[in-house]
Amino acid sequence: MPTSHYIANNHLSASNKMPRQINRNLIFNQIRTKQPISRADLSRSSGLQRSTVSLIVEELLAERWIVEGPTGQIPRGRRPTFLQINSQRGVLALDIHPAQTTLAVTDLGGKILAQEVVVLPQNPKKMVGAIVDAIRKMIAAHHDRSFDGIGINLPGRFDPELEKFVFAPNIDWPIGRIKSRVEQATGLSVVVDNVANACALSEIWFGYSDGMHDLVAVNVSEGIGTGIIANGRLLRGVGGVAGEFGHVQLDPNGLPCGCGSRGCWETVASNRAGMRYYTEVAQRPSPAFDALLQMA
Ligand SMILES: [Zn+2]
Repeated sequence: MPTSHYIANNHLSASNKMPRQINRNLIFNQIRTKQPISRADLSRSSGLQRSTVSLIVEELLAERWIVEGPTGQIPRGRRPTFLQINSQRGVLALDIHPAQTTLAVTDLGGKILAQEVVVLPQNPKKMVGAIVDAIRKMIAAHHDRSFDGIGINLPGRFDPELEKFVFAPNIDWPIGRIKSRVEQATGLSVVVDNVANACALSEIWFGYSDGMHDLVAVNVSEGIGTGIIANGRLLRGVGGVAGEFGHVQLDPNGLPCGCGSRGCWETVASNRAGMRYYTEVAQRPSPAFDALLQMA
């Protein structure tokens, strides 16, 4: 997407060193959220001059990020041509958990067009291969769409600068190779990040947080992680582990945790902890519940 690493909003456009890219992101995001929209309305909503808007729109049209849609109706004068994002372009999104992976096809606006859950094999050596196979099948099933890239989120901290995992206590298979394996198999660019970071970015791009500089997204799954947006940007911290509050110790004598410590937050508040509480109080756990426990 042309949004790059910057969160395009009005707060950044005045202060950033790359106004051209910021304005481009601003226009793309206005089209994404307000489509169909005319050039005149883009100029009004973005606060940018008509000539600047026209130049950026021509660029986005030439690169096929957007397309011209129907012609608008106005009482008099030239009818405006509406702009919308190119619905033929898409992204493949993966949400990887220890025992299963969800695959989704989305358009450039983040709208989910198809979704599938794949149960992963028991054998750790077959995990990455199974994920690559599922990706190939999903892309083949949507061959009428052109994919711009693949976004993978998972329960671990991936350092994008070092391109490696620095912390993934809930995954016991060789997850470190996932990025390069998927890139080789598909020829598409792959972005990997922690699931809570992805939630925080999603909230900024597609949620109801317009204008917020700071927010914390808490993701509760097999563990707990947080994604932190500070001053409009994702906070990664040293080694990419900012937000890893699931391993703050609450009880030194608590249950052992996947990270090697005891009594971490996620041992008392997570899907796994919830399941454990249930088994402690349930009289007769059912086979269906046992199956759920395996998935958690
Ligand atoms: Zn821990």
